[in-house]
Amino acid sequence: MKLLKLIANLGYGSRKEVTQMFREGRVTDADGEVLYADDKVEHARIRLDGEPLDPPPGLVLMMHKPVGYTCSTKDAGRIVYDLLPSRWRARSPALSTVGRLDRDTSGLLLWTDDGALLHRIISPRAAVVKVYEATLAHDLRGDEAASFASGTLVLEAETTPLAPAKLEALGPRRARLSISEGRYHQVRRMFAAVGNHVDALHRSAIGGLVLDHLPAGEWRALGADDVATVF
Ligand code: URA
Repeated sequence: MKLLKLIANLGYGSRKEVTQMFREGRVTDADGEVLYADDKVEHARIRLDGEPLDPPPGLVLMMHKPVGYTCSTKDAGRIVYDLLPSRWRARSPALSTVGRLDRDTSGLLLWTDDGALLHRIISPRAAVVKVYEATLAHDLRGDEAASFASGTLVLEAETTPLAPAKLEALGPRRARLSISEGRYHQVRRMFAAVGNHVDALHRSAIGGLVLDHLPAGEWRALGADDVATVF
């Protein structure tokens, strides 16, 4: 790909703005040689104002989503895109979240600009397990695990039963729930269906990919080995 398109696609500016960057000699190679809009140069060797470019397409990120951020591109309040470098919102192909977490849910949120990968992860056929830790308003009764595992539980306003899910009690009002579907507000609605209420919800893993110690609000790029653990 020619440099002008590559740099514009990374969100550094419109074609016109990036053309101006070339005119000003701001785009160079790693040895400081000025580059031109039509040049084709290995991504890792390109510098803009002396700095390496943002990563090329094929990005997969892990983010620790904090409570209070919405997984949408537009919202009156804070959105998860605010946690990434601002020009990344203008990348092409677009970087989007792999599924969503509620505004009041924290935890592991994946991002990618690889549409095929995104669909592979969220596809019902893949049945990737998502693991949540819930803090509940009321003590567990003791029958929830059997109810969630039964494969017969139907959520309010739905007709298709939920796939079996695994509940582990972590305390009287704390539970770990592993689900393989991604229905709207699924975890909160599952606990509502057994007479409880979720006060706080955190996603700790997607497949074998665990959030580990990434602080809330931070993110890191994943390598192919990390991504493979999702499946
Ligand atoms: N289930 C929910 O209810 N909320 C989430 O954010 C994720 C799963």
